[in-house]
Amino acid sequence: MERLNVIPYPNRVRFTGGTLKTENLLTAEMPIDLVPGSMGDEAYVLEITPEGVSAKCATKRGMFYAQQTLIQLVADEEIPCCVIEDEPAFPYRGFMIDTVRHIVSVEDTKKMIDAAASLKFNAFHWHLTDDQGWRAQVDSRPLLCEKGSVRSGSYFGREESGTEYGGYFTKDEMKEIVAYAAERFIDVIPEIDMPGHSSALLHAYPEITCSGKDVEVKTKQGIYSDIICAGKDEAFSVVFDAIDELCDIFPGEYFHIGGDEVPKTEWSQCPNCKKRKAELGIKSDNELQRWFMQKVADHVREKGKTAVVWNDAVKAGEVEGASVQFWMGRKKPTVKIANGGGRIIVSDFYHYYTDYNYSITPLKKTYNYNPRLKGVTAEGLKNIAGVETPVWTEYIKDFDRLCFLTFPRYAAVAENGWTLQENKDEEDFERRFEIFTKSLRQKGITPADKEEWNPPLMKRFTGARLY
Ligand SMILES: [Zn+2]
Repeated sequence: MERLNVIPYPNRVRFTGGTLKTENLLTAEMPIDLVPGSMGDEAYVLEITPEGVSAKCATKRGMFYAQQTLIQLVADEEIPCCVIEDEPAFPYRGFMIDTVRHIVSVEDTKKMIDAAASLKFNAFHWHLTDDQGWRAQVDSRPLLCEKGSVRSGSYFGREESGTEYGGYFTKDEMKEIVAYAAERFIDVIPEIDMPGHSSALLHAYPEITCSGKDVEVKTKQGIYSDIICAGKDEAFSVVFDAIDELCDIFPGEYFHIGGDEVPKTEWSQCPNCKKRKAELGIKSDNELQRWFMQKVADHVREKGKTAVVWNDAVKAGEVEGASVQFWMGRKKPTVKIANGGGRIIVSDFYHYYTDYNYSITPLKKTYNYNPRLKGVTAEGLKNIAGVETPVWTEYIKDFDRLCFLTFPRYAAVAENGWTLQENKDEEDFERRFEIFTKSLRQKGITPADKEEWNPPLMKRFTGARLY
């Protein structure tokens, strides 16, 4: 069967016979018929004849995607003549970079955005705060960066270092990233993780822990019991100040407020948290977290945006008006929310987390995953907004390692998000990715070689280490 050399694979291709020599194309103008309302915002039509190429779309975004398809096609000397009528399976196609455990520079982040745009990703989730550092300038709360952006060392296994590690993105740098992404039709979604994964924030503001004790910016990976007190009003002042300033920098619709991995031992003993629960008439600490996330999500809504939470935050019920990012744990609450009309993003840990070695998460496992969660009704499927692939950087010290782990798996998730299930083809994807590699290298990204992608079972067994 004839296939085009494009990732993600277009959803409707009708071959019309003959070929177009690309040398002819380079000298010709591509006529673009942009008619608002004629098709979906992300849709486009490309017609390739022996004489040239013409495009139709309804928006500049559609035009951009038509161009991305064409750029990949012209890498060959000849393109088979065809009509491509294309639009994505899912409206949300995201990638996430943790720039806390190790900082990914502005230049390298731009390279990732550039590569992602060519794969028609439309969202970059920027994980800016965690236990191991605070990475976003906030003028009204300068201690966040002064104290929270620095840790005394890095003990993440393999290569350990007692050298102080720190840094943060200035407002100008964040704006630069936002603008760069916007030119490529990618929205940037900042994340401030709370009430857990907040050691860096709590190092700057120890008065908003439950006990008022000092908290260190962490030097190791893990899940820590140092969390933001839900009983102190001042805690919300700090959090809201940070959110408010970042809302001015990130113009997109979504703001991620975290909510993952929150041990509640401190809440269960804290007089302020107990008082809060009594006032609210709630019994469990999971309910208290749901209330905490709801309060922050409501604030985000007042700023004109929609909050996103990790699915740990909805154990005790929906955070109203917030999107849920499913990564791990019981699917049931997420499925229930999807079926009830809530918006869901699928980032399944076992398939879409790209910080794990290929022996743990081979390419085929990522590629063949179907993000349409089991138990979601036909109606509920409309609420699965799409997919997101995260990369966490505890074990990723440099950009080469980041590229090795994310590519080709990012491309596989891009195809999961854009290409309908029936148009996916694993073997053909691998073939197309080898061709796509050339343009990735031109963007400064070196993917993993083919022999790494799907280690044979023996190698997986004997070579299995997490990172
Ligand atoms: Zn407390």
